[in-house]
Amino acid sequence: MKNVENSPSMGIIKKLAKLRVSEIALEKIERLAVKAGIDENQLLNLYVETKNNLYRKKFANVPFSDRILILPQCLRPKDCHAQLTELGYECEKCGNCEIKKIIERSNKIGYKKAYIVSGGSMVKKILTLERPKACLGIACVKELVLGSFIFEKFGVVPQGLALLKDGCVETVVDMNSLLTSLQIKT
Ligand code: SF4
Repeated sequence: MKNVENSPSMGIIKKLAKLRVSEIALEKIERLAVKAGIDENQLLNLYVETKNNLYRKKFANVPFSDRILILPQCLRPKDCHAQLTELGYECEKCGNCEIKKIIERSNKIGYKKAYIVSGGSMVKKILTLERPKACLGIACVKELVLGSFIFEKFGVVPQGLALLKDGCVETVVDMNSLLTSLQIKT
């Protein structure tokens, strides 16, 4: 695998991340990865990291009460009984997965609310209704890239954390990184 940090693609991705671009950026990253023979996920991670660095200070300045947390529904186990509503799954706090702990921590820190979503259209609905000033999103890296376009469109300051193990079911998030990201402040 090539070293992305020292490749010319690094500069292109950084430039892309600094722009308020649309889904076109994702296509560009995918094309770039194929052309340069670089692992696509590495480039996508680099994009997310650059976006995070770009917005970290702004995010840190937003009071916890103006922030929301968005979790992917795939963190739930297969036998989760959470009911699906128009704004995502309502965790029943059974404790069979990390979501209960994550939501309790974000509430304790003072976040406005935590949502468990099944896709981008739900995120748009939440942003329209809740009007948060900042959002920490947890998702697979591709969804984080797509999510950054949505947040920028809504003027919401984003931070993204990629899942440790992605896929469509029973994914895994690094709890330490999640707690660190939740508590970013000046
Ligand atoms: S803690 Fe919440 S999300 Fe996790 S399995 Fe229980 S009800 Fe489902």
